[in-house]
Amino acid sequence: MFKNIIAPVQTWLLARGQCVGCGMPLKKGKIDKKSNDQAKIACKCGRIFIHNLKDKTYRRALFDEV
Ligand SMILES: [Zn+2]
Repeated sequence: MFKNIIAPVQTWLLARGQCVGCGMPLKKGKIDKKSNDQAKIACKCGRIFIHNLKDKTYRRALFDEV
């Protein structure tokens, strides 16, 4: 039940470029790896995100990307 409430909040935070765990702006996160079209960003709370450099969106990293 909680997932149904939390998911939209996470989507909203990511759309604003903020970590879904601690709310930190992801542009302040540590860039782990960078390629032509995406960057892997590690937040200080340990969550990993993928920043799509083309459409400037963020998403949670998949398990095989961590
Ligand atoms: Zn965080």
